[in-house]
Amino acid sequence: MTTLVIAEHNNGSIKSATLNTVAAARLLGAPVHVLVAGSGARGAADAAAAVEGVEKVLLADAAHLGDFLAENVSAQVLAVAAGYSHLLFAATASGKNVAPRVAAKLDVAQISEIISVESPDTFSRPIYAGNAVATVKSADAVKVITVRTTAFEAVASVGGTAAVESVAAAAASDKVSFVSREVAKNERPELTSARSVVSGGRGLGSAENFKILDPLAEKLGAALGASRAAVDAGYAPNDWQVGQTGKIVAPQLYVAVGISGAIQHLAGMKDAKVIVAINKDGEAPIFGLADYGLTDDLFQAVPQLTAAL
Ligand code: FAD
Repeated sequence: MTTLVIAEHNNGSIKSATLNTVAAARLLGAPVHVLVAGSGARGAADAAAAVEGVEKVLLADAAHLGDFLAENVSAQVLAVAAGYSHLLFAATASGKNVAPRVAAKLDVAQISEIISVESPDTFSRPIYAGNAVATVKSADAVKVITVRTTAFEAVASVGGTAAVESVAAAAASDKVSFVSREVAKNERPELTSARSVVSGGRGLGSAENFKILDPLAEKLGAALGASRAAVDAGYAPNDWQVGQTGKIVAPQLYVAVGISGAIQHLAGMKDAKVIVAINKDGEAPIFGLADYGLTDDLFQAVPQLTAAL
């Protein structure tokens, strides 16, 4: 048994989701290798080699791997997959794009969004928007797994001394080519890895009003998030959405402002350590989950809270 973790990186360094995925991999009790597929990615490979618990890093370096197109990355994973018992991906937009392609080609069932490792073939994963936890046992020879990163404490990014081994790059796909990338500029911490998150809902009423959350997030050093209703209404960008069909977050502090607490929203934030809710409706379901609840008009409460901080 050996486990291969597919690294998420930017060619120069490793993304934090990889550290959580390695943490899950270590629980399998087998040696952990990491694949870095990129272009000019020696920096990322060296960073992966320093990660606690990693025994070997495979580096596939080629121009066509530099933009992380799922077609090319999945071909690369398949090229090195022989001999591995477990292939682990972070359950991020990128991991969820690559893993199913690999599972399909290997003719195995993907095991999605695991939140615990019971044994090398048995895992638990949330179902029904997190309202139930299924224990799944796989008889497949190779387990292709996506890991819910918030469920596994990250391993240290330093301390490891793995060897980096270069592997041949798989051929580039002729079906796709990279055209361009628009990177959203964000002065705030990244939503899924932020220690604090301030989220706004439909209660904010408009995109203009949503800005009332800026100074609060600034004071807390928090990322901004939103409910789906706020995103659908155009109050907040799509990539701020928290929930079943948005991002899963588990920060130390989650402040829900003008959010009712629909189960699909809770599915994305219920693992936050401390939940604060501000809502003018004292019966709002969010208060059932909140550690601290303030029944008040947000347009009064948010500036007061910001000033007090
Ligand atoms: P509402 O439910 O309308 O709540 C607004 C709240 O603001 C109310 O509680 C109100 O009392 C309060 N409020 C209004 N004015 C003020 C004020 N002045 N001061 C204080 N409080 C005020 N939702 C998600 O968030 N994320 C998802 O990923 C997601 N995925 C979904 C997937 C599916 C398949 C489906 C069917 C739904 C999904 N939803 C998701 C939608 C979800 O069901 C809810 O509709 C949504 O979460 C509601 O958003 P909200 O709480 O902002 O709005």
